[in-house]
Amino acid sequence: MHLSEILMHLGENREDYFNAVTPPVVQSSNFAFPTLDAFRHALASEADRPVYTRGDNPTVHILREKLAALEKTEDALVFGSGMAAISAAVLANVHAGAHVACVNAPYSWARSLMGTYLPRFGVSCTFVDGQDLAAVEGAIREETTLLYLESPNSLTFELQDLAACAALAKRRGIVTCIDNSYASPVFQNPAALGIDLVVHSGTKYLNGHSDVVFGAVCSTREQISKIFKGEYMTLGGVLSPHDAALALRGLRTLELRMERSHRTACDIAARLEAHPAVASVNYPWLPSFGQHELARRQMSGAGGLLSFYLKTTDFAEAEAFFDRLEHFLLAVSWGGHESLVLPSAAFYKVPGREDPPVPWALVRLYLGLEDTEWLWADLKQALDAVQH
Ligand SMILES: *Cc1c(COP(=O)(O)O)cnc(C)c1O
Repeated sequence: MHLSEILMHLGENREDYFNAVTPPVVQSSNFAFPTLDAFRHALASEADRPVYTRGDNPTVHILREKLAALEKTEDALVFGSGMAAISAAVLANVHAGAHVACVNAPYSWARSLMGTYLPRFGVSCTFVDGQDLAAVEGAIREETTLLYLESPNSLTFELQDLAACAALAKRRGIVTCIDNSYASPVFQNPAALGIDLVVHSGTKYLNGHSDVVFGAVCSTREQISKIFKGEYMTLGGVLSPHDAALALRGLRTLELRMERSHRTACDIAARLEAHPAVASVNYPWLPSFGQHELARRQMSGAGGLLSFYLKTTDFAEAEAFFDRLEHFLLAVSWGGHESLVLPSAAFYKVPGREDPPVPWALVRLYLGLEDTEWLWADLKQALDAVQH
C-alpha cells in the first residue's frame, strides 16, 4: 500500500461518521449493544470491536491500523507512552527463569526495565555490543527468549545488522524486538527484515508536534493478540481517544517531516564536521560514520537526530556554547517541529545524581522543521565563540 494511502485514508470509514473527512474523537469509555447476541459477538473479538476503551476504541483503532500498515505488520497496539509499549512487548515474551539479550545502549528506561526491573521477577539480562554479531550470538543462552535491539540508538547511533540478527534469533528459536523510533517507519521497516516486534516512542516522529506522549507495538496477529490479552488489558497503559486523534493529525505529515528533517540534518552534519570547534560528528548518513554502509543497506534515510563532540577541554567553554544558542531549545526528547539541543553536560554536576558515563563534550542535536540557514546561523555563532 502506498504511504499516501496509509497516512491519508487507511482505516477511515467515513460513511460511519457523516462522511466527515477528519475522524471524530470517540470520547466514550464504553459502548452499548442492541441485543444480548450482539453483546456476545463483540466480546468474542474485544481486541477489534469497541466494548470498553481500555480494549478497543474507534479513534484509537484507526491509529492502530495505520501503524501496522506503516510497519508492514499484521496488527498493532498503541499505548500511553513509548515505555508502556516497550514494557508490554518485553513482558509478553519473558517468564521467570528466562533470559534477555539486549544491545548495550538502548533507551535509558528500556535499559532500566531489563537490567534492574525484570531481575526482581527472575528474568536475567545480558547487555552486548550489537555491532558484533558473534558477540550477540555469544550472549544467547539456553534460556534466552528475547533479543532486544535498538538500531540506530538515539545518542551515538550504533546499528545492528537487522537481517542477520533476525536470522540468528530464528535459528535459536528466540523472539526479536526492536525500538525503531530513530528511523521511523518511513526510513526503516524491521519486520520486512525478519524482526518479530517493532516498538515505537510515538512521542517522537509519529506524533511529531511535541504535544502527545504515546507508544506502539507492531507485530504479527499472534503476538498482538497475546499482548492484548496480557499486558494491554492487564496493565492498562492505553492511549486516550483524544491523544490518538492528535497523533492521527500528526501522522498526516509524517513523510514530509521526515524528508525535511533528514535533509536539514545531512546539511548541518556536514557543516559541523568542517567546523574547527567540533571534534567529530555521529550521523549514520555521513560517509565518515563507522557503519555508514550498513545504514545505507537497511535504511532509506536517517532523519533529524545527530550528535557531535566539542573539541574544547574546558567545561566552562562548553557551558557557554549552550547558553549562546538562541534558536535551538535546550530540552530532552526529539522528533517534533522544534530543533533541540541535549547537552550531556546538563547531566553533570546535578545535585543528588552521579555524573553519567558519557563524556560532557557530547552534544545531541535534533533538527526540526525550521529553515536550515536560520538554524546554522545560530549554531555557527555559538561554535565560533568556542576557543579551538
Ligand atoms: C523517548 C524514547 C523512548 C520512550 O518513549 P516515551 O514515549 O517517552 O515513553 C523509547 N525509545 C527511544 C529511542 C526514545 O527516544
